[in-house]
Amino acid sequence: MDRLIFHVDVNSAFLSWEAMRRVKRGEPDLRLIPSCIGGSPESRKGVVLAKSIPAKKFNIKTGEPIALALRKCPSLTIAPPDFKLYSACSKAFKDICRAYAPVVEEFSIDECFLDFTGTERIYPDPIALAYEIKDKIRDELGFTVNVGIGESKLCAKMASDFEKPDKVHTLYNSEIPQKMCGLPVRDLLFVGGSATKKLNDVGIRTIGELAKADINFLKGILGNKNSIQMHNYANGIDQSPVRSQPEEPKGYSNSVTLEDDVRDAETANAILLALSDSVTRHMRRDGARAFNVGVTIRYLDFKTRSHQRQLSAAIDTTNAVYEVAKQLLAELWRDHRPLRLMGISLTNLSKEESAGVQLSLFGEEQQLDNKRDEALDKTVDALRGKFGSSIVQRGTVMKSGLNVARKFNGETDLQKNCHN
Ligand SMILES: [Mg+2]
Repeated sequence: MDRLIFHVDVNSAFLSWEAMRRVKRGEPDLRLIPSCIGGSPESRKGVVLAKSIPAKKFNIKTGEPIALALRKCPSLTIAPPDFKLYSACSKAFKDICRAYAPVVEEFSIDECFLDFTGTERIYPDPIALAYEIKDKIRDELGFTVNVGIGESKLCAKMASDFEKPDKVHTLYNSEIPQKMCGLPVRDLLFVGGSATKKLNDVGIRTIGELAKADINFLKGILGNKNSIQMHNYANGIDQSPVRSQPEEPKGYSNSVTLEDDVRDAETANAILLALSDSVTRHMRRDGARAFNVGVTIRYLDFKTRSHQRQLSAAIDTTNAVYEVAKQLLAELWRDHRPLRLMGISLTNLSKEESAGVQLSLFGEEQQLDNKRDEALDKTVDALRGKFGSSIVQRGTVMKSGLNVARKFNGETDLQKNCHN
């Protein structure tokens, strides 16, 4: 055997974590009743982020509005998301994993890869080891995980997705023909809805059929880059190593789901300012600047649109990012249909000091402004580091009456995790 990799995946993470907390308080187990995580129960707004199996029987779907879910099941129990709880649970189960594996890669808030390559003397029986880790997490922390075992990250992850919950599965290379080839292409890692449709249209329905397809034929359908990776994956080929250190972020992003629909530019801009503030703070902390600013909006019908701009100088101050974001929003959101989500992303990063100095193109006055912005950001960042993020709020943010900053500060780490 080449390598030995486990993928540990919490079963319906947000819901089980909330359920576990409530069970400890003597409240009903959310996993056993129609329930979901999302929105806020009083306002009946927001969307379903996770649902219980009994809720699934009422045809409640992830991503749909809470109001609609309540029409399908009026007795639905709704629990608001709590990212503090999620990060604590995430850390707890990953700590157990670290006690066993020499190398652990955090893949998302509820998933990690464990590399056991070369440990056969300590752990002669991988399946017994997987059961031990799974049972320890369940018995000590009160929630269940699936463990997938394979010779690559791909196969381990595919295996953990087989039957759920509280299960151990293997997908060794020798088992690929029997366990993976017959699955629909949609089940293959990173094959999205549109790729599935394109493949189905040309008669490729299973992973096995994708594995056997001619690579040049696939390039015509899916484009060069995607087809090589998908073809490799379909053949169970994935050499990527398990990395214990997270990679340098490729970008920073932050978004906020709005509790009240936003219809006017003044409110939307206030939210952009709060987002600019939060996202640049994280970037500044890492000493990076961005050449690219993007804005994303989502309408009530979940249609999502983005707009981005490449700049000639890299920026890192709240105001500079805000000014670009405001322009992008004005260009993107002409119809002023109500929004339910807004986001900002900063990409094309540079850590070079010189990346930011071409600012002369904004004129000297602007340069002075920029110096002042930098000084202000530094002071604000320092205060926040000392007293927590709610200590300083920008004038406009407070004026809008929306406590946006508090809301998404809790989400930042999660989102950074997901986007890395
Ligand atoms: Mg999961």
